[in-house]
Amino acid sequence: MRLLVVEDEPDLADALARGLRREGYAVDVARDGEEGYVKAQVYPYDLVCLDLGLPGLDGRAVCRRLRAGARPEGAPRPRILMLTARDALEDRIGGLDDGADDYLVKPFAFDELVARIRALLRRDSQPGGSVLRAGELELDASRHEARRGGVPLSLTPKEFALLRYLLSRPGEVVSEGQLLAHVWDENADPRTRTVRVTVMTLRRKLAAAGGALQPIETVVGAGYRLRDGA
Ligand code: CA
Repeated sequence: MRLLVVEDEPDLADALARGLRREGYAVDVARDGEEGYVKAQVYPYDLVCLDLGLPGLDGRAVCRRLRAGARPEGAPRPRILMLTARDALEDRIGGLDDGADDYLVKPFAFDELVARIRALLRRDSQPGGSVLRAGELELDASRHEARRGGVPLSLTPKEFALLRYLLSRPGEVVSEGQLLAHVWDENADPRTRTVRVTVMTLRRKLAAAGGALQPIETVVGAGYRLRDGA
């Protein structure tokens, strides 16, 4: 899952980006509304954390533009979580009117932010809380745990994020470009083989946990797919 943090306070922006990356998300940062708006047109974000008080184009204006379709062609509208220092009722209602899906009043606890993000992203996938399952695979996003046939997997944050993305799209063929866009951030070099290398290391760990078949199959020329009943 790829997130954009639009926040003009550098310390807060950095702290949020660092914390969310530790949670396994790919995170880009924009320092003002204009930059956020531009990035959201280029990258298919799953969710945008949007500060309300921004210099120039403010959070509500960015929100309206995202709502109006400022995003890469074919990409679904990102979820929008508004961050606001102002607790005035009119700001909250205004933000929700502009198309925000939820809001959080500053200062907030980081755990609260993570819980809200998880809840918003869950609205897109199947019910069942933070646990994703397919065949013998089970991944608990809130606990950062993944298992195959009950055997715990020791995954890097990228391997975990990759498995989560595949599990949220069972049976779908997912291209390398899609993985690069949703699991990696803007610092990833598309010329490297980073996706292939991470798929390879993840497959090794899945194989080591047992099971007859490799759960991640390659669909030649198209990408990867989680095998049915893997
Ligand atoms: Ca601000």
